[in-house]
Amino acid sequence: MQLDDPTLLREHALIDGLWQSADDGATLAVTNPANNSLVALVPCMGVAETQRAIFAAQAAQIEWRARSGKERSIILRRWFDLLMQHQTDLAKIMTAEQGKPLAEAKGEIAYAASFIEWFAEEAKRLDGHVLQHPQADKRILVLRQAIGVTAAITPWNFPAAMIARKAGPALAAGCSMVVKPASQTPLTALAMAELSLRAGIPAGVFNVITGKASDIGGELTRNPIVRKLSFTGSTVVGKALMAQCAATIKKVSLELGGNAPFIVFEDADLDAAVAGAMIAKFRNAGQTCVCANRILVHDAVYDEFSHKLRVAMQALKVGNGMDSDVMLGPLIDDKAIAKVQEHLSDALEHGAQLLLGGGLDALGGRFFQPTLLSHVTTAMKIAHEETFGPVAPLFRFYNEREAIDLANDTEFGLAAYFYSRDIGRIFRVAEALESGMVGINTGLISNEVGPFGGIKQSGLGREGSRFGLDDYVELKYLCIAGL
Ligand code: ADP
Repeated sequence: MQLDDPTLLREHALIDGLWQSADDGATLAVTNPANNSLVALVPCMGVAETQRAIFAAQAAQIEWRARSGKERSIILRRWFDLLMQHQTDLAKIMTAEQGKPLAEAKGEIAYAASFIEWFAEEAKRLDGHVLQHPQADKRILVLRQAIGVTAAITPWNFPAAMIARKAGPALAAGCSMVVKPASQTPLTALAMAELSLRAGIPAGVFNVITGKASDIGGELTRNPIVRKLSFTGSTVVGKALMAQCAATIKKVSLELGGNAPFIVFEDADLDAAVAGAMIAKFRNAGQTCVCANRILVHDAVYDEFSHKLRVAMQALKVGNGMDSDVMLGPLIDDKAIAKVQEHLSDALEHGAQLLLGGGLDALGGRFFQPTLLSHVTTAMKIAHEETFGPVAPLFRFYNEREAIDLANDTEFGLAAYFYSRDIGRIFRVAEALESGMVGINTGLISNEVGPFGGIKQSGLGREGSRFGLDDYVELKYLCIAGL
């Protein structure tokens, strides 16, 4: 990998401002999902190193929270500038460990950096309130104070953004943080950590430890010094971590699985709907929690929409994300391939019809063909579980009520999308959908300004937006008497 700044590729974890190896020298191999080649080795740390990171975060937080919001803002802003200055190198590191096309990786760095920029601005607005007391000689003040030491456990599908969305508000509020990135994609996190040092974030305020998920996660959730955990990942791990956090009553933010419906009504602009479906389905090879998992199409436009979608999908170029014209990279690992294959064969066994693709790409390895299925029903696994791969399943519906019921027929509630040009329907459907976010006539909803998060079993809390700081803040009520 050719980097303009090779020192961004770090093979040590960052604890208390120092690059460290695991106590026993153990390492984890980071491999490239496109060809299984070794990219780098990172420390395989456990409980002892995690404790050290937590102690460092505790000590550093005292000084960090005492600074003014403006001082924290200036430093975070420098971090943003550095992330953008090194956008291409960071993207190359990401593509090497994660597989997504380089253009998408660059886009993710800009998206990640936007949260640091946003919360650099928000750091200046950590304002409280003055409330009227029911008695005339008293006043009520409400302070918004940093929660304290926070922990973040992040997934491999957005190696930079999932960290930035947590670290931005945490550091802006005056919290410190210990991050455990996914074992598949620690190098992007370590490069971000290197830039955090260059930006002037004090030692111990932002720590990144790599290694055994259950050991590190166990300590982060058990240790009473940690006052908050923010997790993005699978629902099953999220539930376990939430249960572990119960013992010390930590605050938790969870961004878990989704099962996003993408509804195409009979009055939709079909070309726009196809373009939106392509983005919502195939970004990151279908490996995002807001990916369209179920495409529901009205009977009157079903054939036309499926034809147009098939044509668009045929143009997707599969390959190594480092090659410039590639649009669909490899899936992250063999487990991901197995899940996609399982959903596909279950659907075909239950009567789905294959319109395109249907198996591994000719490139082999972890490259999967863009796959289109029709005649998909709720009897199939694909209707209830997140596929996390490039399979587009088409369901048919006949009226608005049926579409809403189908869309809501899931324990998840993260994102939903629909296409319609009828203003009455737009409000009816948007209000009836059980999800934290709704894309209307768009397949791309996430940015730093909107509150990202889910309802039902998709999670707790919101990331980004002017509400995002709230997840890292406690309210303190002061009652002043004798005035
Ligand atoms: P995915 O299936 O998308 O990899 P996971 O929920 O397994 O999602 O992983 C998300 C993050 O959670 C990763 O950083 C992973 O290492 C971490 N993780 C997985 N299992 C545990 C666990 N038992 N305790 C703490 N962290 C875990």
